[in-house]
Order: sequence, then C-alpha cells, then structure tokens
Amino acid sequence: MQKLIDPFNRSINYLRVSVTDRCDFRCLYCMTENMNFLPKKELLTLEELDFLCSSFINMGVEKLRITGGEPLVRRNIMSFFQSVSRHLMDQKLKELTLTTNGSQLKKYADELFQVGVRRVNISLDTLDDEKFAKVTRWGRLSQVLEGIEAAQAVGLRVKINTVALKGFNEDELFRIVSWCNERGMDLTWIEVMPMGDLDSEQRIGQYWSLNELRQTLAQEYTLTDMAERTGGPARYVKINETGQKIGFITPMSHNFCESCNRVRLTCTGELYMCLGQEDKADLRGPIREKPNDEDHLRIAIQSAISKKPRGHDFDYTRQKVHGQMTRHMSHTGG
Ligand code: SAM
Ligand code: SF4
Repeated sequence: MQKLIDPFNRSINYLRVSVTDRCDFRCLYCMTENMNFLPKKELLTLEELDFLCSSFINMGVEKLRITGGEPLVRRNIMSFFQSVSRHLMDQKLKELTLTTNGSQLKKYADELFQVGVRRVNISLDTLDDEKFAKVTRWGRLSQVLEGIEAAQAVGLRVKINTVALKGFNEDELFRIVSWCNERGMDLTWIEVMPMGDLDSEQRIGQYWSLNELRQTLAQEYTLTDMAERTGGPARYVKINETGQKIGFITPMSHNFCESCNRVRLTCTGELYMCLGQEDKADLRGPIREKPNDEDHLRIAIQSAISKKPRGHDFDYTRQKVHGQMTRHMSHTGG
C-alpha cells in the first residue's frame, strides 16, 4: 500500500477530523454569536466519515484526532467512535483521541474509554465562573469541571488547552498551572490565531505572546526545554520544581512547519493540507460519485497530499495581520 508522503518528504501519519461545525459554546475567538451552520445535507454522514478515516488509516495514518465544532454534540457520535476503534484492535491505528470543550464528558467519558480512547484534550481558558461564561458566551464552568472529573475518574489522561488572551487570563497563569499540576494534567498554552471574523485590531489586542508568558512563568519557576516534539506546533518545557510539563503552541512566533505530519478533514469532506493556507481538496465528491470505492478515493487523497504546501503565512510582526484566514476554527477543527 502506498503511504502518504508529501512533496517535502514529510510522512503524513496524523489526521484531524472535524465531525461537526456545531457547538454548544460560542467562544469569542472562535465563533460569532449568530453562526450560520451548514445545512445537514452538506455534512458527511458518520458512515462516510468512517470510510474516509479508514481509507487514511489504510494509507498509513496512525493517529486520529476527532474534533469540531464540538465533536460530542454530533448525534450518534459514539457509534462513530465505536466503529473506527476497530482499527485500534487490529493495531493499524495507534491512537484515537479527541479535542473537546468538556461539556458532554460526564455523559461520554466511560464509553470513550471503553472504545479505546486513552487521552483527551480539553479546552479551558479560565477557572473563574464569570469569565468562563464571558469567553464561551454559552458555557458553564461547573459542567466542564464535572466533565474533567468524570474523564479522570474513568482513567482518561487529560491535557488542558488554554488560549492565552491578553487582559483576560494573564492574571490566572500561575493558578491554572498549579491547578493542572494538582490534578496530574498536562497543560498547553495556545497563542490566539487570526481566524474567524473578529477584526484585526480587536484580535491583536487579544494576542498574548507565549514568549512573554514564558518569561513570566520563569520568574517563579526554573524551566527546562524538553526535546520532545510531536510533529505538531507544540514545544514543551519542564517545570523543574514540580516535574510538570507545559506545552506552548506558537504558530505566530515559531515556524513549526518543517516537521508537519498532519492534514485536516472538515465535516463536509474538505481536506486542508495546511491549517494556515486556503488550499484544499474535495473528498466528498469522490466518495459520493463512487461510494465505498477505496481505490477511487485513494487517487484523490494522493493528489491532495502531493499539493501539501511547505508552510503557513501567519505573521503578526508588523502589527497587521498578514495571512489572515477567513474560515472559522470550528470549521477546520483547530
Ligand atoms: N470544541 C472543541 C474545543 O473547544 O476543544 C474542539 C474544537 S476547537 C475549534 C479546538 C481548539 O481550537 C480549542 O482548544 C480552541 O481553544 C482552539 N481555538 C479556537 N479558535 C482559536 C483561535 N482563534 N486561536 C487559537 N486557538 C483557537
Ligand atoms: Fe466551540 Fe471549541 Fe469553538 Fe469554543 S473553541 S466555540 S468550544 S468549537
């Protein structure tokens, strides 16, 4: 079977799949309050999603991350997890995981563990009830905290993802770090990306550079850079005093593209070869033209991978947002 190798000799073994564009939250940096969601018929069915994921797995994808929108609000989503988990059993797939806002985890943590999920990324930007309601517009902190507890109780390893927002959670840096440490959870800080449709000035106002965040952290702790890379945009440091691992996702301040091993599939079957470029390939067409014809789909996938660009063009350096993307994170899944 032909593996997926892009023009820059990078092996593509990680697929992120957005299973819905819908969400029960409306985070300020991700969505507008009145989102127009896609008509249902545009969405891939769960069977089509399974077929696509399975084909990628047959072409060498070893890690599958399910995301959204909020993946756990898609109707019958557990049947999809159940079904793709067969690839864990036959060991073609090494990891099945998800990124979630945590709101539905109380309900689904146990089932996720049963199908073989072992780690989840949960997004959480503040530990303050009011601020949480403000940044998510529709979310309730207590519900997410219950979800996190449920996940840990069934044995899922939790990583918290926190978007660094100037003037919003700067004052919670140390609190969030120690809260995660007390609960044995890794923590990754994410620089806010120029996505969605907030205007540029507002977005730059929200930008809190992780270099700055790191310097503040270093005032209290001794930090050691870790060599660990995952082929993604995260870099890690260890806090010597606690042994805790902290990740930094800095798409603006570092170029992480050389080692990129991933592509993203949207819930309408568009394959984005790079998070920061508009270039995409339609995979829904081929699977609806010839349902269940893996050879036909494989040609479309290979052709898409042969167009994977070298890297992205985000750039904040001149206080103007270059390379700004018009699509929402909830569409590509972050
Ligand atoms: N709903 C799920 C969640 O919130 O975890 C999964 C989808 S969400 C789009 C995936 C990740 O993207 C979240 O961690 C979220 O904080 C992050 N995200 C959304 N918009 C962003 C932006 N403009 N810049 C940086 N991260 C963003
Ligand atoms: Fe929903 Fe996640 Fe976007 Fe927040 S970041 S609106 S939880 S998809």
